[in-house]
Amino acid sequence: MTTFSYVILGGGMVAGYAAKELVARGLRAGELCIVSADSAPPYERPPLSKGFLAERETEDSIFINDAAFYREHSIKLRLNTPVERIEPQQKRLRTRDGEEIGFEKLLIATGSHVRTLTIPGANLDGICYLRTLDDAKHILTQQSGARRAAVIGGGFIGMEVASVLAQRGMETRLIFPEERVWKRFFTPVMSAFFERYYQEHGITLVPQTHVVAIAGDRRVAGVELDSGATLPVDLVVAGIGVLPGIESLTASGIDVDNGVIVNEYLETSTSGVYAAGDVANYYDVLFEKRRRVEHWDNAVEQGKHAARLLTGERKPFVHVPYFFSNVFDLMYEFWGDAEGADQVSYRGDVDSGRFSAWWTKEGRLIAAFVLNRPDEERDLAPQWIANRQHITPAQVENTAHPLRETMGR
Ligand code: NAP
Repeated sequence: MTTFSYVILGGGMVAGYAAKELVARGLRAGELCIVSADSAPPYERPPLSKGFLAERETEDSIFINDAAFYREHSIKLRLNTPVERIEPQQKRLRTRDGEEIGFEKLLIATGSHVRTLTIPGANLDGICYLRTLDDAKHILTQQSGARRAAVIGGGFIGMEVASVLAQRGMETRLIFPEERVWKRFFTPVMSAFFERYYQEHGITLVPQTHVVAIAGDRRVAGVELDSGATLPVDLVVAGIGVLPGIESLTASGIDVDNGVIVNEYLETSTSGVYAAGDVANYYDVLFEKRRRVEHWDNAVEQGKHAARLLTGERKPFVHVPYFFSNVFDLMYEFWGDAEGADQVSYRGDVDSGRFSAWWTKEGRLIAAFVLNRPDEERDLAPQWIANRQHITPAQVENTAHPLRETMGR
């Protein structure tokens, strides 16, 4: 059995950014092994549902580090290597092929897996998901020749993929169970804006609807809805959420509950074993609660932070949660956590798509959304959320002055 100083289990964004940071901190040849079930070296995931799917970006442009990086720093990159179990007491992993890989310190970065459809017809050709590079390539293959698409799920993947397919000229329907688009995250005002925008860009919204079966012989020919209707389609993309990748932890003794339980130092219940990214259920010191974040920014920042922890620096992970999204020609950003907000106020003009939304709890800022607004608002949002800035609706709504200047008014 070969033993490494550091093993990263999972070859996603955490691994890519942790490796980069370890190198910056003086990683020596042969110290790091990345064990990945994926067939490609660590890549950026955001382009998969945006530029890569629209064929504006290529495979080569999305790798976090180029092939020479792993070679030059003698980083062992084990692709196509699913791990069956972690044995922390023996400080080793066992791969599905029975190979043992030893570690001094382990970073669990297994990410998450897509939730799949379990309805009749779910195994027909032309039904796609989007998580990995292979998934994105699969959609590109399946969409060629397709004319009508059903996108199931009104969350991140649903919103982004529907916008790409519509822009590629496909007749696109977005089918989701809630009464308005992305109810979990958008306010009614925001849902109304995006619904109008999507409809104006040719997407048919099908709210309050479940797909109960997929019709077709070998390939998908339609989706059967709980309303009794069948919509003829030749491509289905389902974005119905993800599940944390914890299969290899069964019987490991490492605490698991909606992901791998870690403290603010990203330490699991087992000494020398850390977790980061989608799979980490960590203690957020800013919001004083546990959370699991499935976004790109969290994987990047926790990946870098974990590398610092692995090399002996013991500082808590302190970070305002953040994500961005691109749909059609819109790019929006979100900071914080709106759960528990008792007020939301808007700045700018919602109808023209130039607005920001500011959520407060007991008068203090806890979350902000910014779309086509001055950079000042993007800069202030994370600072003020971290500081629990006191802010009133009148200050937010006063666009006669830059936001910071409204503070004294
Ligand atoms: P998601 O954002 O959690 O949205 C899933 C949606 O599907 C929800 O609206 C959900 O409704 C609905 N749903 C669940 N089960 C369903 C079913 N059986 N039939 C129809 N709809 C169903 O998940 P996602 O869009 O699949 O994205 C996966 C992950 O990728 C996310 O965690 C996200 O963070 C990440 N991602 C991020 C970005 C970004 O940061 N820009 C972009 C793409 C992907 P309920 O809420 O009612 O369950």
